[in-house]
Amino acid sequence: MTKSKSKRKKQMLKRRIIALIIFGIVIGGVVYTPIKLKHINLLQIEAKASERFNNKMSFIEDYKKIKENFSNLYASDDKLQEISESIDVIDEKLSNGVSEEVESLISTLKSVISDLSAANQIELENIFNDVNSDNINNFTEEEMNKVNEYTNEYNQLFSKEKYKQAKETLNLLSNYISETKKVASERKIKETYEQKSNEDSSLREPKYINGILIVNKEFGLPDSFLPGESAEARQAFENMKADAAKEGIYLNAFSTYRSYWSQNILYWNYVSNYGQDPTDTFSAKAGFSEHQTGLAFDIGGLDRYLWAEEDFKYTDEAKWLKSNSYKYGFILRYPEGKEWKTGYMHESWHFRYIGVDHSINFKDSDLTLEEYLGL
Ligand SMILES: [Zn+2]
Repeated sequence: MTKSKSKRKKQMLKRRIIALIIFGIVIGGVVYTPIKLKHINLLQIEAKASERFNNKMSFIEDYKKIKENFSNLYASDDKLQEISESIDVIDEKLSNGVSEEVESLISTLKSVISDLSAANQIELENIFNDVNSDNINNFTEEEMNKVNEYTNEYNQLFSKEKYKQAKETLNLLSNYISETKKVASERKIKETYEQKSNEDSSLREPKYINGILIVNKEFGLPDSFLPGESAEARQAFENMKADAAKEGIYLNAFSTYRSYWSQNILYWNYVSNYGQDPTDTFSAKAGFSEHQTGLAFDIGGLDRYLWAEEDFKYTDEAKWLKSNSYKYGFILRYPEGKEWKTGYMHESWHFRYIGVDHSINFKDSDLTLEEYLGL
């Protein structure tokens, strides 16, 4: 009896221990597994977050680069504003995090900037080729050095894709070349004039290009060239005068043909009054005046105090002449802003007869006879 009792006790204890172990395993599993799963989950979330963070960082870096690229480009004011506005929108949305919407906006911006960059590049290459194809003549060494300086600076900026700054430099280069060309042209005209006017005037030959007699500071006439006033030019002037009168415009040709010798007297009179350099801007040495051709007409209006005066250009007569003289074979010989090409100041009264076939090409332009004849 005692034996079986103790045996049963032992068995009960054994069962309890087993039950306890099972209980322990079950409880352990129930508690531990979710903890473990939660941990794995956390790791996954962390990895994802880190990946997202890295993506976000490179995305923002990329966006920064797009913005920086934009600051090196140029565009019309409208286009610039359009892009700036879209950047503002992205910046604002980005402050709330990277969303799909922001990603799509940035991707659009990226392609807009990239198109603009390509357009800038093509345009700059074209402008640069234009500027470079401009023939540079008679520049001094110092002037050439300046051209090279600008050119090198431009090339550097262009290669760094700083197109906005490259364009500014290109503008400086282009302006420098066009201004220096004028200076060089004036310098050349002065040198040539000095040389030609010291040559024996009797040996000069009248210079004709395309049937047009050209007289300027390079091409002079011999003292023996005495054609008198051109009858054809006079007839053309009378026709013009008659037509102008119908519109209430009264024209007077107050000075036309001048011989070599009368020009000589006139020129030296001016020199004694004004000095040679100023005189050379508005009066020609004997043998170099267009008036010796018989084809140059100094034309004034009703007010004789304005004849051959700078202020004549403001009169109705001067305006009428500027717009209509080409119909009668006349051209404004010394246009405003073309002193560097003609060697003379603007003379709103000095018209040259070249015939309608040629003068028609001068309509509404500031073309000079030199440019027209390719000089
Ligand atoms: Zn004149």
